[in-house]
Amino acid sequence: GETANLAPLDASKMTTELTKSPRAVPEPMSDETKAQKTCTDHMVTAKWTVEQGWEAPEMKPYGPFSIMPSASVLHYATECFEGLKLYRGFDGRLRLFRISRNCARMRKSAARIALPDFDPKELEKLVIALCARDGAKWLPKERAGSFLYIRPTMIGTDSALGVQRPREALLYVIIACFPDMSQSLATPAPPALNGEPNGEKQHAPGLRLVASSEDTIRAWPGGFGYAKVGANYGPSLVAQGEARARGFDQVLWLFGDESYVTEAGASNFFVVLREKESGKLQLITAPLEERIILEGVTRASVLELAKERLTSAHDGIEAVEVVERRYTMTELIEAHKEGRFIEAFACGTAFFVAPIALIHFRGKNIEVPMDGDSGVYARVIKQWLFSIMYGKQSHEWGVVV
Ligand code: PMP
Repeated sequence: GETANLAPLDASKMTTELTKSPRAVPEPMSDETKAQKTCTDHMVTAKWTVEQGWEAPEMKPYGPFSIMPSASVLHYATECFEGLKLYRGFDGRLRLFRISRNCARMRKSAARIALPDFDPKELEKLVIALCARDGAKWLPKERAGSFLYIRPTMIGTDSALGVQRPREALLYVIIACFPDMSQSLATPAPPALNGEPNGEKQHAPGLRLVASSEDTIRAWPGGFGYAKVGANYGPSLVAQGEARARGFDQVLWLFGDESYVTEAGASNFFVVLREKESGKLQLITAPLEERIILEGVTRASVLELAKERLTSAHDGIEAVEVVERRYTMTELIEAHKEGRFIEAFACGTAFFVAPIALIHFRGKNIEVPMDGDSGVYARVIKQWLFSIMYGKQSHEWGVVV
């Protein structure tokens, strides 16, 4: 049939055109990085057509590309993306963190938004090739403990205006500079969530969340919350902007009449509660089955590390049971009243493991307990992940570039 002769995505076919105008690497927290528009010297692109499949990928100078005003992505949001970091280790090496998971998720997202399939291993090779090309210059050895942000993206470029599966697509990978490129172990001053610096609004440690209202639902069963498609993010910006204007850092996304707790901003959300009956601690996050939660790489890693290292008492830290289940705001409020709400944190690539200090829900504040600048569990989990990302602990999750 037609599909039999389609060329697969093949990183080994990549051509290379190096930039003739290499740019200076900006200083962290400079006006340039704060503008969040600086990408590294190169990018990787690969075109796909329904007739031919994937063309040879190209490594080329970072810069604009042209698509028709009628392009599918501009009208029907045929777009998906990934976000991961390139870390400069304290051993001088560059690492990616569990990149195979990002590539597998990108494939899943592409399928949800009618973009073409590809072998995730080939995308992984393209990302690694770009990191190998630009990493040494843009993340110099002196910047151990820092990172760059990698954004693999796919868009429907088909210029046919009809509402249909795009017959042409473009896959590309770019690497961006964040304002604060150091992944501090200290709790960040209200961090740059969703890439938006918080400016002068500094407050005590811990994020302050405002629960979403019924008129803004991030994701719903049968929708696409499990996919990293742009269509999930644009519609969240009004609620996010309102949260900021009211002095909160992020939105805590609730779902349903029962006010199920789902995610926080563009990150997964965990709570530690003491169970009423047994008196035991549980580390709880929302489950994936309903497909309204993005399966974060950080989320998976927190769950795995906690199961491995926290289910028995550890360095004076009480053991937790690790649970993926539904839980509601009512449950959190009750636990808080009874002194059983121990801790909460958000986690994701962009702002790592971020302790939560406050949740505002229907006019009331829930002050989440903190142990100084973080909760105990967030602190230890963050330390473990940090060690893997920056090569202080050698671990299969740290993929050396
Ligand atoms: N939830 C949403 C909605 C996100 O956009 C992200 C960021 N990709 C996450 C959770 C966290 O995922 P990860 O740990 O893979 O960054």
